[in-house]
Amino acid sequence: MAADSRSPVRYIVAAVLFAIAMQVWIAQAGAVVELDYSDFKQLIRTGNVVDVQVALHTIRGTAKPAAAVQLPEPVRKRLADGRADQPLKFQTVRIEDPLLMQELESAKVHYSGAVEATWLSMLLSWIAPAVVFVGVWFFAMGRLGNKGAGDLIGVGKSKAKVVVQKNLGIKFADVEGIDDAKAEVMEIVDFLRTPERYRKLGGHIPKGVLIVGAPGTGKTLLAKAVAGEAGVPFLLISGSEFVEMFVGVGAARVRDLFRQAESLAPCIIFIDELDALGRARGVNGFTSHEEREQTLNQLLVEMDGFDTNKGVIIMAATNRPEILDPALLRPGRFDRHIAIDRPDIRGRERILRLHASKLVLDADVDLAAVAAKTPGFAGADLANIVNEAALHAARENKPAVAKVDFDAAIDRAVVGLEKKNRVMNSKEKQTVAYHEAGHSIIAELRTTTDRVSRVSIIPRGIGALGFTQQLPTEDRYLMKQSELLDRLDVLLGGRVAEQIAFGEISTGAQDDLQRATDLVRHMITRYGMSDTLGPAVIEAQIGSNYLGDAYRGSREFSNETARAIDAELQHVLKAAEARVHDTLVAHRQELEALAQLLLRDETVERGTLLKILTANSGATRSAPGQSAAAAA
Ligand code: ADP
Ligand code: ZN
Repeated sequence: MAADSRSPVRYIVAAVLFAIAMQVWIAQAGAVVELDYSDFKQLIRTGNVVDVQVALHTIRGTAKPAAAVQLPEPVRKRLADGRADQPLKFQTVRIEDPLLMQELESAKVHYSGAVEATWLSMLLSWIAPAVVFVGVWFFAMGRLGNKGAGDLIGVGKSKAKVVVQKNLGIKFADVEGIDDAKAEVMEIVDFLRTPERYRKLGGHIPKGVLIVGAPGTGKTLLAKAVAGEAGVPFLLISGSEFVEMFVGVGAARVRDLFRQAESLAPCIIFIDELDALGRARGVNGFTSHEEREQTLNQLLVEMDGFDTNKGVIIMAATNRPEILDPALLRPGRFDRHIAIDRPDIRGRERILRLHASKLVLDADVDLAAVAAKTPGFAGADLANIVNEAALHAARENKPAVAKVDFDAAIDRAVVGLEKKNRVMNSKEKQTVAYHEAGHSIIAELRTTTDRVSRVSIIPRGIGALGFTQQLPTEDRYLMKQSELLDRLDVLLGGRVAEQIAFGEISTGAQDDLQRATDLVRHMITRYGMSDTLGPAVIEAQIGSNYLGDAYRGSREFSNETARAIDAELQHVLKAAEARVHDTLVAHRQELEALAQLLLRDETVERGTLLKILTANSGATRSAPGQSAAAAA
C-alpha cells in the first residue's frame, strides 16, 4: 500500500538489520589477531612475517601458519581452532620504532604503506552514529509521544486510531443548556436521515461544520448527538493524533479516514482539536512544519474533492478558532460555524438536572442554588460536580445525595477551576456585569452601531470575560468616520462603566483598549481621518489576515510624524472617553438596572435589554427599523 511504503519504520528496521549483519560479518572476518607490538617484533625476528601494511596508527600483516606457535599462550588461545594451517592475519598498534624498516628489510618481509581509513573503518564510523541515532530516536518517541516503542509499528495504520461508533445512543435530550447550537445542527440531522430528499431538491448542505467553544462545553457531545439522532456511524479522531513525527504519516491517515468514511456513509467524521493540525501555516509548534502542512493539505484536498451527496458530514471542534489556517474556513470547507457558549444560570440548572436524574437526591438539594454558585462552569464541570457529590455521599454510606455533598463537590471544583481561571468570584462577576452593561448601553444609544442581540457575563472565549453580542444589521464594506467613532465609543463603554460604578478600571478592559487604540491608529494612519495629520496614508496596509499584527507594515515616517500620531491618538481617545462618560452618566439608571439583571440572570436577550432602556428613560436611539425591532 502506498501508505505503508512511505512509512519510515521500514527504513529504520532495514538499517538496524543491516547494522546487525555487518557486525556478524566483521566478527567472522575476525581472524585478524590483535597483537602486542612486542609479539609482532618477535614474529619478525623469527622470520614468520610474510607481508605488512604500515599505516599511520596501525600495522596489519600476514604471518606464516606456523607462526602461532611463536606467540604467547593468551594470544594463541584467541586464535580459532583449525586455523593453524592458514596464514595468520594480525594487526597491531604502531608505536614509534625507527628501526622497524631495517628489520623488515633484513627479514625480507614484503611491506607497503596503507591509508588508515579502510572501507571497514569507514563503514564502522558510519554505522555507529546511525545506531546511536536510532537509539535516541526510539527514546524520544517513547518520551514525546507518551507511547511505547511498540506503538511505532502501528504508525500509518489509521484504522487503529479512528474510533468508529455505531448506535451511540446519545440523543439531543442528552445535551442541555445549549439550545441555539442544537437548533443549528437540526438541519444536518435531517440531511443525514434522508440524503435522497435533499439531493432531489438540490439543497446546499454544508460539508464542514466547525463547532467553537471552550473545553467541556459539549462540542463532542453535540456532534455525537447529531450522529445519534440521525442513526449514522460516528468516526472520531483527534487532530493531535493526525500529526506525527514522520512526514507523510498524517496525510496517509487523512486519506484512510476519508476512504473509511465513504464506505460507511452516511456518517459523521468528527475531528476533535482541529487546531492541533489546522494551525495557521507559519505559526510554530513542536512537530515539524512539513508534516503538519502535508496533513493539513491532505485534509483540504479531501474536503475539496468530497461530494456532500455521498452523505458524509465533517464536523470539527476547536476552542481556538483564531489560530486556524484561513484556508480551512473557506467556502466548501469548514464554512459553517456553530458557537457554543458556556451555559448561563438556567442552562447550568438544566445540565445539573440532567446529570442528577440518575441519582437519589435528598430533599434538601436545590439544583437551582447549585447553578447559582457555579458561574463560568462548563457542562463537563457540572457533570463532574454531580459525580463528585455522588462519590462524597457514597463514601459516607448515605442513602441519598444531600446538599452538603454538593457543597463539598463545588468547593473542590472551584479550587481546581480557579487555578485555571475558569470561575469568577462575586466581585469579578460585578465588575464584568457593569463592564458588559456599559458596552451594551453605548451600542444601543449610538446611531450607527450594530444591534445588541445578547449580553452575558459568562465568559465566552479563553481569556475573555463576558460578552456583548452585536449582530450586524447589514454587511458593511465601507465605513464612514462617524461609524468608526461610534464603534470606538462601544469599545470604551466597558471601561467607562467600570470607572463610573467602582471608580477604577480592571485589567479585563485591556483588550478593549487595545482594540480601541488600533482602531484610532488606523483611522489616523490609513484612512486619513485625522484633522491634524490630514488626508494621507502614513502606513501601508499589509497582509491583514488571521495573524493580524504579526504582519504589520514597516514604518515609513519620521519621528516627528510618529509623535504627531501619538498626540492625535491620545486626543481622539480622550475625546471619545469623555463622550462615553457623559452618555453613561446620563443613563446611569439603565446602567444599574442592566448590571443588576445581568448579576441575577447572567444573560440578557435583546427584548429585555430594550425594555430596560425604554422603562428607565425611553431614550433609545431613533434609527429606522428600531420600532420593529423593539416590538419583536
Ligand atoms: P468538549 O468536546 O466541548 O470538550 P464534551 O462534549 O467532551 O466537551 O463534554 C464532556 C462531558 O461533559 C460530556 O460527555 C457530558 O457528560 C458533559 N457535558 C458537557 N456539556 C454538556 C451539556 N451541554 N449537556 C449535558 N452534558 C454536558
Ligand atoms: Zn469589554
